[in-house]
Amino acid sequence: MTTLIKGARVLGGGPADLLLEDGRVAAVGQGLGAPGADAVDADGLVALPGLVDLHTHLREPGREDAETVETGSRAAALGGYTAVHAMANTDPVADTAGVVEQVWRLGQQAGLVDVVPVGAVTVGLRGERLAELGAMADSAARVRVFSDDGHCVADPALMRRALEYVKAFDGVVAQHAEEPRLTAGAQMNEGDLSARLGLAGWPAAAEEAVIARDVLLAQHVGARLHVCHVSTAGSVEIIRWAKSRGVQVTAEVTPHHLLLTEACAESYDPVFKVNPPLRTDADVEALRAGLADGTIDAVATDHAPHAVEDKETEWAQARPGMLGLEQALSVVLETLVEPGLLDWAGIADRMSVRPAAIGRLTGHGRPLAPGEPANLLLLDPAARAPVEPAALASRSRNSPFAGRELPGRVVATFLWGTATVLDGKAVR
Ligand SMILES: [Zn+2]
Repeated sequence: MTTLIKGARVLGGGPADLLLEDGRVAAVGQGLGAPGADAVDADGLVALPGLVDLHTHLREPGREDAETVETGSRAAALGGYTAVHAMANTDPVADTAGVVEQVWRLGQQAGLVDVVPVGAVTVGLRGERLAELGAMADSAARVRVFSDDGHCVADPALMRRALEYVKAFDGVVAQHAEEPRLTAGAQMNEGDLSARLGLAGWPAAAEEAVIARDVLLAQHVGARLHVCHVSTAGSVEIIRWAKSRGVQVTAEVTPHHLLLTEACAESYDPVFKVNPPLRTDADVEALRAGLADGTIDAVATDHAPHAVEDKETEWAQARPGMLGLEQALSVVLETLVEPGLLDWAGIADRMSVRPAAIGRLTGHGRPLAPGEPANLLLLDPAARAPVEPAALASRSRNSPFAGRELPGRVVATFLWGTATVLDGKAVR
């Protein structure tokens, strides 16, 4: 299997040809020839390493009406991803070697991205006792990221034990930072707007208090902590402080928290209900600045498909969560590249290199250089189009970007040298 990509701008640089052979980049240079190879014209397209998502909900097993490993993998490939971490809040919960191996095998069968299962921290996500972390780490799925996402590991003693346990195999605990006693019944960001709309508020302090606690625990234990979906300016400040003290903490921000604010709730359209909630303009500005200066390491989608009956209902009844895989790169172009906060190398770093490093994935987030894995995407940066939910590959339709014109179009994605997307369409 040999592919010759002609005239791609690697990380936005001058045009070069890339020869992909046996799953690897065989050569990069001018005027390469390869008789019999599949040729791909990349004139004007930017080549980036395949994106890596640290935070995807694929819903299988349990809610295959909302998404499956296959449909979510297809959405990911169309978004330029070559690896996604599948969150553990499935039914059954991914809290045993058996379930993480099942998800891993389904990902291999779909063959559209490398599906990397996340293991639950606690049995059933109940926050009572640790799950079989070691067995999941030793399984065929080789789990390194553990999270009760959807729930916070609220008990500090349990969080400490989880950090101590994963340290033994270089794992990381990815915390959904939400002090539950401060967010009971919460519907949106707490502030003047929640008071005016009559919706119960989710205060910034509920996120910041847990992050502050956890960076101190991570420092005390000497273990790796990852903070999911950072949403407030105060959280960015705490993480910046912790990094300056040498704490092994990393953090992610979602596309929706980079683009949208709590003002979306004024429509009472439940497509904008999400956890943590959309925040203020000042928070959005701090998140963009934190991603630009590297305080926030990665963009992670928190892609959360929901069936129509769970989402198209009253705000208070609707499930929190939004689609993200197919638009993440476009949102980052809109919010960071076009305003000049990040360049192409910065995009590669925050959406591929660093998330791969956090997940300890050796085959992703690598330079596009001879001998490296052929995991990459080709992007048309000049394209602009409105987002059409009906055209999405996800099985669900809850995109908060519907109707919004966004820049950039993924033209092709290659997974270990094999095209998963060509001409902007999934190959299968
Ligand atoms: Zn979460």
